[in-house]
Amino acid sequence: MPRGKTPRRPARTGRQEGARKVRGGKAATSAVLRTGRTGMGSGTHPDRAAARPLPVPNSASGRPLPPRAPERIQEILVRLNVLYPEVTCALQHKSAWELVVATILSAQSTDVRVNMVTPELFRKYPTLQDFAALTPEQLQPDVRTTGFFRNKSKSVVGAAKKIVSEFGGQVPDQMEQLLTLPGVARKTANVVLGTWFRKNEGVVVDTHVHRISRRLELTRNDDPKRIEQDLMKIIPREKWTLFSHQVIWHGRKLCIARRPKCVDCPLENICYAADKTWSTVGIHKSAK
Ligand code: SF4
Repeated sequence: MPRGKTPRRPARTGRQEGARKVRGGKAATSAVLRTGRTGMGSGTHPDRAAARPLPVPNSASGRPLPPRAPERIQEILVRLNVLYPEVTCALQHKSAWELVVATILSAQSTDVRVNMVTPELFRKYPTLQDFAALTPEQLQPDVRTTGFFRNKSKSVVGAAKKIVSEFGGQVPDQMEQLLTLPGVARKTANVVLGTWFRKNEGVVVDTHVHRISRRLELTRNDDPKRIEQDLMKIIPREKWTLFSHQVIWHGRKLCIARRPKCVDCPLENICYAADKTWSTVGIHKSAK
């Protein structure tokens, strides 16, 4: 099978056997850098083409930059911007309340599944007050297919009742207040604040951000709260929400959990993750 078509396990040396050398002794970049193609459809995005070739940022000594070096972080942000220029939350919503509901329902589920459920749900119960008038048991059949429907129903109805009784029927736009709602933790609060209220109060750490931040060595922590703190220290505040959405999309499209499509990934030559399926750079055992 021709090279470049099938992702491969990285060689123990950290470099694929036969990977081309280019001027300056650097290994050849991945397929996307050579061809401009990614796994996100045919053709080349004009911005992506304009961005080629993507250089490997090195220190003055020519060695790879430390994982959290500002120049490397900047390069990661630039490449994510080129790949996912205008991404936002994939959960369909028309109001802050609908986003709260969709985000609660998305736990342990997929956005696709939630988007199959919510249009009918919001048609049946158009207002926050409609949800507040329900019992969790009444809501359960409508959200059953998203999984964990008993807990989710309890959270959604509980959140609606609390917003009506304590916040005048308006979804609060403060982190502290959002965190008092049943079923709302920092991840949901960050989604709502960043996406609906345009407030960068934190970084959304879902399963994709968790995995990719570790693969890219932006953190070594495993706890979402600590990962968020690590990311908030190195990502500029005005980019927290966009960065979250970009990494989530990257996790869906290329940096998937079991078999990342490294051969098609524009971050490949600055990613040293131990579980890469294709590598032109040295592997860091601690990056996973
Ligand atoms: S693990 Fe592979 S797909 Fe994920 S960021 Fe690294 S090179 Fe890209």
